Amino acid sequence: MKTPSTTSARLAGRIKHLTGSVARDILSRTQDKEIISFAGGLPDATLWQDLKLPEVPPAAYQYGPSEGEHSLRSILAERNNSLGLPATPENTLITSGSQQGIDLAAKLLLEPGTPLILEAPSYLAAIQVFSLFEAELHTLAVDTDGICPQALDRLLTETQAPAVYLNPTFQNPSGKCYSLERRQQIAAVLDQHGTLLMEDDPYRDIYYDEAPPAPIASFLKSAPWIYFASVSKTLIPGLRLGSLTCSPELYDDLLKLKQASDLHSNRPAQFIAASMLADEAERAERIEGLCQHYRQKRDSMQQALAQHFTDLATWEIPSGGMFFWLDLEQSIDLYAALEKTLEKGVAFMPGSPFFTEKCDQGCSIRINFSLVSPKSMDKGIKILSDAVRDLQQA
Ligand code: PMP
Repeated sequence: MKTPSTTSARLAGRIKHLTGSVARDILSRTQDKEIISFAGGLPDATLWQDLKLPEVPPAAYQYGPSEGEHSLRSILAERNNSLGLPATPENTLITSGSQQGIDLAAKLLLEPGTPLILEAPSYLAAIQVFSLFEAELHTLAVDTDGICPQALDRLLTETQAPAVYLNPTFQNPSGKCYSLERRQQIAAVLDQHGTLLMEDDPYRDIYYDEAPPAPIASFLKSAPWIYFASVSKTLIPGLRLGSLTCSPELYDDLLKLKQASDLHSNRPAQFIAASMLADEAERAERIEGLCQHYRQKRDSMQQALAQHFTDLATWEIPSGGMFFWLDLEQSIDLYAALEKTLEKGVAFMPGSPFFTEKCDQGCSIRINFSLVSPKSMDKGIKILSDAVRDLQQA
């Protein structure tokens, strides 16, 4: 059904802040088409083409607890514990994807005009949620090692923001991973201001060199925190399962928000995830296989970019996650480039939606390398580089 442009219904004021996700728009334009898509953040579907899901017992068909299945909470809490977080099943909540965790945290923290600090660039769908709750967004640039702790300190003093949202490990979209030192320094600044940290960490397990440093939340001594994790990137995204673990004093309110939102997450999916994650050795083996698989793709993408983009853009090779972030030497209209590449069967994400309106954004492209086969990468990147070159010369 076509969405009418006007309605006689009196909508909530916040709806004027409701933005569609550019990534999902591109996804719907490219679905069911033979397209080489660097646009989304989708895991490689060939990974599960032969997968047989575990059987679900009839017990899972009934309504269940809002906090989620104890078995799954235990597994996820234990994993978070091994990262240095004080996690137990009692401060771990199963969510419908980590996206729901971000939404619940926003409901907990944000009123119209609440100042909130995030990275520039930042995760698109988090910006979408925070904008819907009418937060006043303040951003800090991400350099090679993360946001600058001194700049964070200054911005916290200036804005008195009650919370900061960070995606410090193989960030979506920049692919950057904060250094250990930065993590410790940022935690110290947050402790000093008593500012709540929302740490979004869905890419942590997918690394190509060494394991990333521990979560920033693990270095906090007194500041409150909420840590979001997901099974989407390492198991199956269609299960729509994630978790949040938080300072114990926040848990009851988040649980009530979860109840009010959807009673509980899909129960058969929780049984499936718990069964697939139960054996630690099997888990480690699967993740090792995933890392190898995506490492090859990362390397193929780097080759393709080196071949076609060296004179057009600069970038850092990501040491984990699913994205390259290209900074173009010369600004062009990336939406015009996107129309050109879509005609030739290639999709990519212009960088601008990853920035909030206020901040200066340069001209960047996010390239996802997890979905496309290495064989198609060179072809797709050549088409993209031709479109960029054409527009630069126009
Ligand atoms: N946070 C970040 C940084 C992401 O990239 C994504 C997925 N694109 C999510 C959260 C949401 O993931 P999910 O809801 O599938 O767990």
